[in-house]
Amino acid sequence: MANETWVPGIGAGHPHGVHNLPYGAVSFGGPPRLVARIGDLALDLAAACERLAPDLAPLVAEPVLNPLLAAPAETWRRLRASLVDWLSDPVHRPAVEPLLRPLAGGLTHLPFTVGDYVDFYASEHHASAVGRIFRPDTPPLPEAWKHLPIGYHGRSGTVVVSGTPIARPHGQRRVSGGAVEFGPSLRLDIEAEVGFVLGAGTRLGEPIALADAAEHLFGVCLVNDWSARDLQAWEYVPLGPFLGKSFATSVSPWVVPLQAFDSARTAPPPRDVPLVSYLDDAALAPWGLDIALEVELNGTVVSRPPFRAMYWTAAQMLAHMTVNGATIRPGDLFASGTVSGPEPGQAGSLLELSRGGRAPLALPGGVTRSFLEDGDEVVIRGRVPAAPGRDELALGEVAGVVVAQPALQ
Ligand code: CA
Repeated sequence: MANETWVPGIGAGHPHGVHNLPYGAVSFGGPPRLVARIGDLALDLAAACERLAPDLAPLVAEPVLNPLLAAPAETWRRLRASLVDWLSDPVHRPAVEPLLRPLAGGLTHLPFTVGDYVDFYASEHHASAVGRIFRPDTPPLPEAWKHLPIGYHGRSGTVVVSGTPIARPHGQRRVSGGAVEFGPSLRLDIEAEVGFVLGAGTRLGEPIALADAAEHLFGVCLVNDWSARDLQAWEYVPLGPFLGKSFATSVSPWVVPLQAFDSARTAPPPRDVPLVSYLDDAALAPWGLDIALEVELNGTVVSRPPFRAMYWTAAQMLAHMTVNGATIRPGDLFASGTVSGPEPGQAGSLLELSRGGRAPLALPGGVTRSFLEDGDEVVIRGRVPAAPGRDELALGEVAGVVVAQPALQ
C-alpha cells in the first residue's frame, strides 16, 4: 500500500498518491519545467533537488527527461526514493511545500525528446481480429507471431503530447473495383496502446537480456497510434505500416516510473509455442502489467481493453528489439500495439469494434460511428485498479480531436 503523505488532500488510496508520482513537463506562463505530480499538484523537480539533493539537480534542469534517462537505472530509483521520502516525511515539509503548485492553469508538454519509436503488435486478440478483417482467406495470425513480438519502426518526430489536434491525413486508397483514389482518409481510426520510455542507452552490438530489461525500462505512458485504415490497407504489403500511421502518434503527458507498478505485475497468458532462448522467460517470473484501459469517443466509453491480456511482455519486446545488436538511446519509446481483450467491448480500435465498418457503434442521440469524423474527440485513460494490498494507480489520459487537413492543391 502507499506510504502516507503530508500533502493536504491526498488521503490513503488516492490514485495520484505518493505511490504514483509520475513525471511530466508543465509550463505556467513561462518555459516548461520538469515536475513530479502528486494529486493535482506539481512539484518542481529542479528546485526540489537543488534544496535536498544537489547532485541530482543537473539531471532535471531541462524541460525534458532525457538527461535523467541517460543516467543509470539506480539513479532513477534514487530520485524516486528521494521524492517519496520528501513527500512522506513531515521533516521535509517546510522545504518542499513551497515548491508545490496547482496543475490547474498549467500547460503540459511532451516530457521527453523521443529518440527512436517502435510499435509492436503484442495482443493476440487484436492481431487475430485484424488478420480476419484484412486477410480473411488466410490464418489470422502470421506464422511468426508466436515466435517473436512483431513490430515496426515508427516516426518519432510525429509523436505528440495529449491534446494536440490530429489533422486527418490525405493519401491513396484502393476502392471497390480496383480503382485507386487520392484524398482525405475515410477510415481514420485509433489504437489504444501502452508505451514504454527507455533509458540507460546501450552500445552497438550489445543486446539487452530479458533479465536486464528493468535496467532500461524507465516508465510507462499511454499511446494512441492514430491509423488511417484505407491508406494502411493499400500500402502495407510487403513492408508494413507507413503513411497510414506516421502522421501522428499521441502520448499521455505523464510518465509513470516502472517502480510504481511493482504491485501491478501479473503473469502473462500461457505461451503455446516454445520460445528461443533470448525470449524464453519461463525461469524469470515473467510479468505483464494489470493496467485497465478505457476508450472514450465524444464522451461515451466505447471500450475497456485489458492490458493484462497481452501475449508478449515489455521485457520480451525490449529483448527482441535489441537482439540484433541495435542500440537504444535515452528517450526511445516503444508501444505495445493495440490492446484488445477477448470479449466484445474490449477492443482497442474502431476497426475491431465496428467489425471493419460493418457494425457501426451506436452513440447517444442516434449518432453512429465506424471511423472518426472531423471534430470527434478520443480520450484513452489508464489505471491500475485497486486490489487487496494495492491502491489504485492513475496513468492519466491521452486525448486528441480530429481536424480536417487543408485540401492539397
Ligand atoms: Ca499500433
